[in-house]
Formats: sequence, C-alpha cells, structure tokens
Amino acid sequence: MFSSVLSATVAGVDCIPITIEADVSQGLPMFSMVGYLSARVKEAQERVRTALRNTGFAFPARRITVNLSPADIRKEGTGFDLPIAAALLCAFGYLEQEKIEKVCMAGELSLNGEVRGVKGILPLVDTAIKEGCRLCIIPKENLPETEYIHEIPILGIENLREFMDQEEKENWGAVRNPRREWPQSSIEYEEDFADVLGQETARQAAVIAAAGFHNLLLIGTKGSGKTMIANRIPTLFPVISREESMEISRIYSAAGLLTGNSPMLMRRPFRAPHHTISPTAMAGGGSVPTPGEITLAHRGILFLDELPEFRRAALEVLRQPLETHKICISRVNGTYEFPANFLLVGAMNPCPCGYYPDRNRCSCTQYQVEQYLGKLSGPLLDRFDLCTEVADIPGEQLREKKPGKTSLQLRREVCRVHEVQRQRYEGTDIRFNSALSGKETKQYCQVSREGKKLLDAAYEKMNLSLRAYHKILKTARTIADLDAKEIIEEEHIAEAVCYRALDKKYWR
Ligand SMILES: [Zn+2]
Repeated sequence: MFSSVLSATVAGVDCIPITIEADVSQGLPMFSMVGYLSARVKEAQERVRTALRNTGFAFPARRITVNLSPADIRKEGTGFDLPIAAALLCAFGYLEQEKIEKVCMAGELSLNGEVRGVKGILPLVDTAIKEGCRLCIIPKENLPETEYIHEIPILGIENLREFMDQEEKENWGAVRNPRREWPQSSIEYEEDFADVLGQETARQAAVIAAAGFHNLLLIGTKGSGKTMIANRIPTLFPVISREESMEISRIYSAAGLLTGNSPMLMRRPFRAPHHTISPTAMAGGGSVPTPGEITLAHRGILFLDELPEFRRAALEVLRQPLETHKICISRVNGTYEFPANFLLVGAMNPCPCGYYPDRNRCSCTQYQVEQYLGKLSGPLLDRFDLCTEVADIPGEQLREKKPGKTSLQLRREVCRVHEVQRQRYEGTDIRFNSALSGKETKQYCQVSREGKKLLDAAYEKMNLSLRAYHKILKTARTIADLDAKEIIEEEHIAEAVCYRALDKKYWR
C-alpha cells in the first residue's frame, strides 16, 4: 500500500511544501526513512513507531519505506512526526488516502502519542493556503498562533487517538479554530510625544521620518533625550494591518519567537539591540539561517543607540539591506532571502565625553573627536536622510516649555501622508518617498523654480554627491506632503537641506 501526506518545512522565513510518502510491501521486515533528513528528522522513526504502538496501532512485519520529497531540500525539525504517522496509518490501512488528500499537517509526537507544539506554524499554514489545501491539522498548542487566519479551516489536536477519533466521527469537521477579527482600533502606548518638552526640530524630524520612512540620526549630549524621542517613534505609525502582521508574524514564527501570549504581533516591531551585538545576530545567519535583528525589525524600527560603539562589521552589514530592503545569506544548500525593510534610527553622542562642540564642557582632543566620529563610515552615514541635533536644555528652561502635540495628533498627520503616498505610487512597488530611485525623483518630485534655485545652490556650495542631492529631494517631498503641497517649494527644500547640513558640521 502506498500513501502520501502534505507538510512543509521552513527554509529561512519561507516555507516549502514537502510530500511524505509511505509504502508497505512484502519483504524482510524493516523500516527505513529517506529524503535528505537531518538527525532530528531521522529520530522521528523511533518516536512514530512507539507512538503508534502506544495508541493501539500495530506495526506490520513488512518492509516499510518513508520518503520525504523533494529530495534536494534538507528537512529540519520535529514537525514531520505527525504527517509521517498519518502516512503510515494510511499505508497500513487504518485511514483512507482520500481522507488525507489536500490536508496539510505538522506536529511532534511523544512516545505515548501526544502531539506537541512545533516552531513555524504560521509559515506552514500560509503554505497550505498557497497550495490550495482544504484543511490544516496542527498541535493544539499552536492553535492560538492561527486565530486571525480565516482563509483555511484549522484543526488543533492533542494526541494521535484524537486525530483518529476526529476523522471517524466528523471527518475532521468538528473542531475549528476560534476565529478572531483583526482589531481596527488604535493601540494605546505608554509613551507619548507630549512627554518630550522642547526639541521642536528633533520632533519634526521624527515626524518626517515616520511619514516618508526616512532613516534618522539623532546627535546630542548624554541625557538630552535622544532615546526618549526614538522610543516614541512607533507611536507615530498607523496600526499594523492584518496582512502586515501576517508577514511579520511569519518571520517571528519561523524564528520560534512567538509565544502563547503573543500569537501574532499586534504592534510594529521596535528592535533596539545592544551595541555589543555580533554581525551575525544583526544580519541573520547560522548553519540553518535564522533571521537577524534587521529582519526582526521588518516593517518596523531598528533603533541603534550609541551608534559609534557598535562593531564596525555589525554596522557594515546594514548597508546593503538599507538599499535593497532584504538580505541574502548564502549557504551550501542554497541561498536564503530574508526581508529587511526597516526604519533605521540611530542615536549618538558627538564625542566620547558627549559635549562636543561645546568647548567649555568637552574635554576631548580634536583627535579623539575625529576618531570617535570616524567610526561611522561615510557610506553608512549616507544612508541617513535626516540628521538632527537633540539640544541639551537646562532643567529650569525645560519647565517653562509647553507640551507639544500628542502622539495621536502627530499620527494623524503621518497617516494622511501615508495615504497621499499610497495614492501617488499606486501600481508601483514604491510605498514611501524614501524608496524613490534617482530617476523616479524626476517624475514624482516637482520643484518650484525658487526651490530648484536653492537646491542647485546647495549642491554647489555644500559640494554634495548626487546621492545626497536625491536624498534632499526625497526628504523635501515628504516635507511638502506634510504641508499638503504637491509642488515642492523653496521652504521645503531649505528644511531638507538643514537635515543634511548637520553631517557636514560634524564630519568635515
Ligand atoms: Zn568631548
């Protein structure tokens, strides 16, 4: 008897459908498993055999072969136990093949037949949908991860006995996942931009960053509030949609970072790795590549505090993804591509002591300052569209400042500009102004005559690169959008130039 069952394996953050075939034939009694299996998948043999026996299904004294195809993909993890058991039950004649047609399953088996939770359930369910399956059978433990998925029925089971009983009684129709609607209301944040007193320029820069997805660099002395501003940037973004959350949650699911308490990500990611992070942890890697910080920050914010303290190599890996919005990791068994479209927010002191260029307080030598600033490479610095100072305001002056706009007010502006961009770039791959190529800026960034004059003057005077020129244009596009203007005016250019002028001040 021959049978086959569908499952899937996670490769990076993608999922590849895997067919599990089982065959029982005459011959010397034996049980073999083939198909480029990792050690953990090979162990399934013993788990499945014992689990079946303890659930009351005898193993016939025949020649039994299990094959996992396609054979050129390395199979990892313990999720194949359940589909292997199902294929065997079918091959032994306990289950009809047609009952498992178009059913995708995964789960680890314990020796007494319990079905245990596995990593990467969301990618699996996603694959089942893409493959046109009619049902997913997964461990009950993983059920909460899938409660916002409405495209396919999902059955959660606790043990093999239940698996068979459900089939006999209801043809797997009885238990369905509790479906929940995606919450539309906005999230409550503990932090609010109204807590930031003064700092109008930095606040405005944060709004521009969120509105056009422009990378932001905050420079300021210790305790000036850089971290406070960065922590509040997530509050400027609209709530994540179910589609966005599915995309991000799939990554977290594949990385095994989803827990019962947070079945799907309801908030935009905000990742703030410590400056001791390794290049691998930043970019992703390992013999079986797992996503790094830049992928975990996908569609969200990557905040790097104390930027010059990071290892140079850990910063250099950011350069390519900042342009292409993805990272490719090559391994012997193939190339893995991880999404990495994040907003980079950097914060740094201007010098080791933190007070440069205030020479009354800064005790660093010119050489020390240059060494410190020099830790950021030119090309990385070039990736920041916005560079702004966070001023150190004395306590007594701070108390006189009136609180600025709240996060909710600012978020409304940001959402409006997101909508403007959505309409403008409809039918293209572009989502935000910051993603425009040099050529595309010609099409989408119309500048008034005075604006053009100012831009050309800045280009000459500041000795800008062509890349910097385009960056100013893109930033000005977002500033004009915030101002609800289609044509970019002189004042928008002037403001955009200011955000660019600062890196000239520190990095001469
Ligand atoms: Zn100093």
